[in-house]
Amino acid sequence: MRVDAIQARSILTRTSGYLKTVSSHSLNPYVGCGFGRSACGEGCYVRFNPWITGGREWGRFVDIKTNAAELYLQTVAREKKWAQKTRDGFSIFFSSSTDPWQPVERKVRLTRQLLMAMQESPPDQLILQTHSSLILDDLESILSLSGICNLRVHVSIEGDCDRLPGLPPPPCSLEERMKVLKIFADRGAKAVACLSPLYPMKAPDAFFSRLSKMGLSAVVIDHFIQGDGTRDGSRTLKTRLPDAMARVVPESIDLSYRDQVARIARKYLPVGISAFGFAGHYSSNLDIR
Ligand code: SF4
Repeated sequence: MRVDAIQARSILTRTSGYLKTVSSHSLNPYVGCGFGRSACGEGCYVRFNPWITGGREWGRFVDIKTNAAELYLQTVAREKKWAQKTRDGFSIFFSSSTDPWQPVERKVRLTRQLLMAMQESPPDQLILQTHSSLILDDLESILSLSGICNLRVHVSIEGDCDRLPGLPPPPCSLEERMKVLKIFADRGAKAVACLSPLYPMKAPDAFFSRLSKMGLSAVVIDHFIQGDGTRDGSRTLKTRLPDAMARVVPESIDLSYRDQVARIARKYLPVGISAFGFAGHYSSNLDIR
């Protein structure tokens, strides 16, 4: 793993494409991801983005944007004004192409610095997205921020299988990530489980019932088809993920599987599909909490 400190030119990126539905801005404290060689890195859509990788092997590099918090404070007023004028408010997706709580965060605390900067000047809406239980290092700071902006904690859990055949282990076990969701929900935060990309499921009824009892606000279901930045999932089809999924549940590699699972999930929780779900738009057979 190569780790470099860099000076970024900007930190609040105005969204376009898939993310435009989700938020006005994305914020990535790092370039690259220390979890890139774990299970989630296999189907990670970022690995195919040459603008981000610069031709480097995914999971083998992390650039640390050392001036991230400083840049945030320098540009937040301008970006907030722009978003409130041209978009549906100032919302930040943190993060879209890296994990804010990857291993190097414990050393450099860039994400923590950004959360502190947001205490000074918060967005209207903040979506925190992670695969990692290291987010608990910042539990109190996040709870404090949720008192001054509309904040959701999104934890990627993919489904009820901790491992898929032929793939490396996840960055953090399924049970650890479930624990993170429960801790945030118990403390009154909006906690959302993101099945993204949706893995084949062993017992969806039991799983969604469990998520509901944990007090989660919603679940987001996103298939690699339409979810990897291509309409037909062609980026992911080049990886080992579809084969691993098909070995567990053959039909899980079809988009219709997403809708099949969503129908079950709606019996227990509000459900958001793909980009609309990440944006916080849910439907349910129950009252939305
Ligand atoms: S944690 Fe997120 S950004 Fe990092 S490799 Fe996994 S899916 Fe990609």
